[in-house]
Amino acid sequence: MAKFDEAKLRECVKAYGFDPNSIQFTSSQRGQGGKFLGFAPWDTQRTNGIGVVNDLSYNSVQIGHMGLGPPDTGVTINGIGGRPDGRGFAEYSPYHNYTSRSLTNPFAIIATQIHELGHSLSMITGVHPEQAPYSRIRPSGKPDDGTFLERCVFGGEVGKDGRLYR
Ligand SMILES: [Zn+2]
Repeated sequence: MAKFDEAKLRECVKAYGFDPNSIQFTSSQRGQGGKFLGFAPWDTQRTNGIGVVNDLSYNSVQIGHMGLGPPDTGVTINGIGGRPDGRGFAEYSPYHNYTSRSLTNPFAIIATQIHELGHSLSMITGVHPEQAPYSRIRPSGKPDDGTFLERCVFGGEVGKDGRLYR
């Protein structure tokens, strides 16, 4: 089983330029989205915090529509994606990402929040700590930026059942 340690998250977001001591994190849980707030080390006045909200309003089919793909556990979009109902397009921001409300395992929910946070932080900061990390368990077959933060925080990837894949 996967285990979540907030101290690991603090360490891991250093890779994107955040001050580990500035991080405020609320984990997502069933029916309730969480959030991340952090400051860059140079932001000594704490004026330009980067906040990322994780939204649990949509199910896996709707998440798939938003990402213009098959049903998925989460999505983060910078710009144009699909509408949740699959009819037409909508605009999205990396400051607001999505975890599927179809997930039930508490560790799978937090791991998806962390994975999508990795996407958001790369999109927002322009920092890609690892070049093209491939996910072992996600079906896209494409390089997946969110996998870096997920592996860094959990020591592997977390399946829908909460199992840790090293
Ligand atoms: Zn991803």
